[in-house]
Amino acid sequence: MKPEELTSFRMLLRLLQARLRGDVEQLQEEAFSSSEAGGDQRSSNHMAEMGSDAWDLDFALQLVENDQGVLDEISHALKKFDEGRYGLCEFCLEQGLPETKSRIPKARLQAIPHARNCVDCERKKELSR
Ligand SMILES: [Zn+2]
Repeated sequence: MKPEELTSFRMLLRLLQARLRGDVEQLQEEAFSSSEAGGDQRSSNHMAEMGSDAWDLDFALQLVENDQGVLDEISHALKKFDEGRYGLCEFCLEQGLPETKSRIPKARLQAIPHARNCVDCERKKELSR
């Protein structure tokens, strides 16, 4: 994934996290003040370029509303950024697959930015439940 794309996903996750914690207004203020200062303008432009369909934040927020478990998942996903493992399927990695074969498809991350696993592994997990 390109660095700009990673930045966009990170921003989306932080927005979701802020919304779930109830401090989204503060975060939006932060985002605005930094773009006015010219600091973070590139990443917000990039998000707009990706199209509003893919970044339907309202839709995403509906899905995660009132779900404490999701907040944990988002924290986990943000930790994966720090470890340089964001966008990789944890299950595939556990099976010993190289990172190039463990990537979660971008379309899936756009739908569920905090997804831990690729679609195949998610299915396997559900079957074993
Ligand atoms: Zn997988």
